[in-house]
This record gives sequence, C-alpha cells and structure tokens, in this order.
Amino acid sequence: MTDLLLNEEERMLQATVRDFADRELAPRAQESDEREEFSWDAWKGMAALGLTGLGVDPGLGGSGGGYRQMAIAEEEVARGDAAASVSLVAHMSLSAQTIYQFGDEEQKLRYLPAMARGEAIGAWALTEPGGGSDAAALQTTAELRGDNYYLNGSKIFITNGDLARFLVVFATQDRSLRSRGISAFVVNEGADGFRANAQHGKMGMRASPTTELVFQGTPVPQSDRLGEEGRGFNYAMDILDSSRIVIAAQCVGIAQAAYEASVRYTQQREAFGQPIAQHQAIQFMLADMATEIYAARVASMHAATLKDHGLPYVNEASMAKLYASETAVRVTSNAVQIHGGYGYFKESPVERYFRDARVTTIYEGTSEVQRLVIARQILPEHALQSTSRN
Ligand SMILES: Cc1cc2nc3c(=O)[nH]c(=O)nc-3n(C[C@H](O)[C@H](O)[C@H](O)COP(=O)(O)OP(=O)(O)OC[C@H]3O[C@@H](n4cnc5c(N)ncnc54)[C@H](O)[C@@H]3O)c2cc1C
Repeated sequence: MTDLLLNEEERMLQATVRDFADRELAPRAQESDEREEFSWDAWKGMAALGLTGLGVDPGLGGSGGGYRQMAIAEEEVARGDAAASVSLVAHMSLSAQTIYQFGDEEQKLRYLPAMARGEAIGAWALTEPGGGSDAAALQTTAELRGDNYYLNGSKIFITNGDLARFLVVFATQDRSLRSRGISAFVVNEGADGFRANAQHGKMGMRASPTTELVFQGTPVPQSDRLGEEGRGFNYAMDILDSSRIVIAAQCVGIAQAAYEASVRYTQQREAFGQPIAQHQAIQFMLADMATEIYAARVASMHAATLKDHGLPYVNEASMAKLYASETAVRVTSNAVQIHGGYGYFKESPVERYFRDARVTTIYEGTSEVQRLVIARQILPEHALQSTSRN
C-alpha cells in the first residue's frame, strides 16, 4: 500500500502482519492446501497477534480497531495464505461482528472474550442447500416451545463449521413471512441434535474447512437469540454488507501475491534469448495487474473508511467486492499465463493463487448479486424487483 493510504499505526499493523505472513503463513500454505488440512499453527499465530479480536472492543478482550484494521490485516494474511484468511473472515467479520453488533451485553460477555483471544472459533451459517443468493427463502426452522427454540434443517458451505465453538445460525419461525420470519441464534458446539459434516473436494481455499450443518430438534435457549425476533435477515444483510469490505481486501492480498510471483518470474525466465520481462506483452500484463490491484486496494480502503466514519458505505462495499474479486480472478489467471507450463503445476504457487481466487466472485454475494446491489443505488425502487443480497 502507498504510505498516504495508511497512518503510522496502520503501517505498523501492516508491517507486523506482513512479516508474520512471510515467515509463518506463506512457507506452509502449499502443504496445508495439498493435505486439505486446517492449519492450527496459522490460527494460533493470528490469535497471538490479536487478529482474531480485531473489531471487538478491548473491554471485551478484543484488539479494537475497525474495518480499516480488519482490511489491512486480511490483505496481508491472504497474501501469505488465502485459506487462513477465509477462516479469519468467517470468525472475525462474520460471526464475532454479528454478536458484537447485535448481541446484548450478557451475550457479548459470554462469547466475545474467548472468540477475540482465538480460543473459540466462530462460524456463520446462512446458506442452505436450496440456495444462497435468495437468503430470504431459507428453510431451517426455529420453533419456540417453553424456554427454548428448536432448530430443524440444514446449512451448506459453512466455513469453520466443524471447528467452531460458537455458530451464528439464521432460521425462520414462519417461512411465509420470508425475510421478516428470520431470527439469528448462537448455537454452541456439541448442542443436542447438531452435527457438522466436512465437505471435501474444494477447488481452492482447501485448508479452510467447509461444512454441512444439520439441526434435528436442536434446542437453543431464548437467551441465545441475537437481537429481536424477525430481524435476523436485516442483521445478516448488514453483516454481509460490511464483511464484503474485508473480502475485497482478501482479494487484493491474493492478487498481490500472484503479482509479486509474476514480477520475479519474468526476470528469471528467458525466451528468445532474453528475460520474458523484456517482451512488451509481458510488461503490459504486469502493468495491468499493478493498476487493477491498486484500484481494488483504494476502493476497499475507501469503503472501510466510510464504514468506520459511520457514513453510507453499502454501495462502495459492493463495488469494492465486485471489482476486487474479479481483479483477483484476472490477475491470478494472468499470473498462470506468465508462468507458462510451470504455472499449471503445483510446484508454482500461482497454481494455488488461481484456484483460491476463483471462489471470491461467489461467496459473500456473487458478482451478479453485487451488481444487483449497485444497480439498486442507480435506479429508482419502482424500476426494480425485490431481490435478496447474500
Ligand atoms: C468456500 C466457500 C465458503 C463459504 N462460506 C460460507 C459461510 O461461512 N457461511 C455462509 O452462510 N455461506 C458460505 N458460503 C456460501 C456462499 O455464500 C454461497 O455459495 C453464495 O452466496 C451463492 O449461493 P449458491 O451457491 O446457493 O448459488 P445460487 O444462489 O444458487 O446462485 C447460482 C448462480 O445464479 C446466480 N443468481 C442467483 N440469483 C440471481 C439473480 N437474482 N440475478 C442474477 N443472477 C442470480 C448467482 O450469481 C450464481 O451465478 C461459502 C461458499 C463457499 C464456496
């Protein structure tokens, strides 16, 4: 990042996380990817640096900071190990923030200190087998009987689901009400009738666990409902709107790693008697990569700044996520191109960057959903049909 984009304290955070990522994350990322294995060392390292507590008040055991700090840390973690950065997002900007922003004081005290220290991992469960983009159509039910809600249904593609001690889960009390029937709950690991099944075989982000969650009459005490009944959908959309800023930063980190590998390679690899960096077509590819990464970084930091200042930011967050994710896909694809045949093999890190980047235009709202959100700001309400925003 350019110096003017960050203040002194933020530059220190960036340098600390970058150093950690270079030393601890990047050298092990390939092996974790091949084994499809969550790296506890990476997690513990992030926790020791306080990254798992970013965005949470120090009074609750957190590290403080806002979306700028989360974005700075996320970019650097993703540059070292994108899979570790997905697990961090699900914990930090999805689950912990839902409890932090919508939980009552008792719930915050019950959950956040252990989460902020990284001792308890969080997961955030909205998507269901029937669909993710149309989140208001979710089918998992929550029926109130006595002091408990009883959850029935299933979730899919849930990051950290089989590691999490605390899971924020969205369920409906009345499907016919669509978004207005949905509430948010905290389900504890080991709750009756709850199980998490690992989903194997992802293209990328392989060291970040992705899971199916099943609820069969799972009791959740009323005291574990977050906020008001029937407001869960609004909470989910608010959290997704802001977490997209952090995902945009993740995309910048992945693209940056692919760009740096490409710059190095173009000076080592020779073709037609000279380093390929001498060929103008290659220079143009590097120039486009650098330009797009720069634009994506500025867009994500601008959205983070708006959010931290309490200013309208939803449009900017969607634009940042849309642009940064498509940039990550383009840049990593061109990085493979620059590496030629070697880029197609696992011995080159760009093969992994390319696979890791691909999901970023899909989760936390597909590119199509981002365009819907942005179009909604452009066109008057009566010109648009209502659509959800996951
Ligand atoms: C690795 C990974 C991790 C994930 N982690 C989590 C997690 O922690 N928690 C969680 O809740 N979810 C998570 N997800 C789920 C993710 O958010 C969803 O996959 C995503 O929202 C898309 O939903 P879907 O897969 O059901 O696709 P669908 O909603 O079925 O969409 C299929 C296609 O149709 C398009 N489409 C849908 N509606 C429209 C429309 N109105 N206009 C135009 N095009 C449309 C979509 O853009 C997409 O191209 C994760 C997914 C992955 C792959």
